[in-house]
Amino acid sequence: MYDKYKRRINYLRISVTDRCNLRCVYCMPAEGIKLISHNEILSYDEIFEVAKTAVSLGVDKIRITGGEPLVRKDIVELVRMIGTLGLKDFGMTTNGIYLKKYAQALKDAGLHRVNISLDTTDPERYRKITRLGDINQVFEGIEAAKKAGLTPIKINCVIKKSKDEPDAQLVAKFCEENDLQIRYIREMDLETGQFWRVQGGDGGECSICNRLRLTSNGKIRPCLFSDLEYDVRTLGAEKAIRMAVGEKPKNGTVAMKVKFSNIGG
Ligand code: SAM
Ligand code: SF4
Repeated sequence: MYDKYKRRINYLRISVTDRCNLRCVYCMPAEGIKLISHNEILSYDEIFEVAKTAVSLGVDKIRITGGEPLVRKDIVELVRMIGTLGLKDFGMTTNGIYLKKYAQALKDAGLHRVNISLDTTDPERYRKITRLGDINQVFEGIEAAKKAGLTPIKINCVIKKSKDEPDAQLVAKFCEENDLQIRYIREMDLETGQFWRVQGGDGGECSICNRLRLTSNGKIRPCLFSDLEYDVRTLGAEKAIRMAVGEKPKNGTVAMKVKFSNIGG
């Protein structure tokens, strides 16, 4: 699929839940967010239908995200379903807290690799940033992902402004020592539309953006920094995808009506 700016759209990011076991300061308020009701959340069959349709239209890269994807019940089943689609690249973005438990099962179900979010290696700082997290679970999760072969493992590290910040430097050192690739993501604000290129990745560069997003309540979004969305339940998967590609903006501006936890970053 090509959009009207001749960008080839081959990448779908699927947010499977808006729920999370952490409360990262840049993503959610301490008390959590108003949750989407269960009947609004797409079932695995509905998600699979969108994924299958997207693949038939030329998508060959899918990433599962959230909220935290590993808190959704039977997530391995969805991975198994999507794993049958013969993707070139099939990844998941996770905070890693439950990876120790799931890494091998995810690999066996067909997942290729994981991105794990880690903004510091200092346990106290980690607790402060995530409000709830025990960093040792993330370290164990990273080990489990390595052992299961969910590689190459990329570490998503959110920075305020620069990769020279002390927390980011700790993460860089940890990645070097543990054979992990680091991607620096500058903290964004969807409502002001301030965003930057991901360093070590290809996000944030509108001219080469190849992405569509599926929110957990079934909206196809052509751009992270726009409120355009197309509902797969009312339009059907194919029409929603085609309309999103047709209307994909040249550049992002602002998104007022969505949270990172529903769109998945
Ligand atoms: N819960 C999973 C995790 O944290 O990896 C997946 C969903 S999370 C919304 C996806 C990515 O978005 C994470 O790497 C997170 O650090 C990033 N993120 C969340 N809020 C952000 C913000 N305001 N600016 C930049 N990145 C953000
Ligand atoms: Fe949860 Fe990921 Fe948001 Fe942190 S960044 S609160 S782990 S969804």
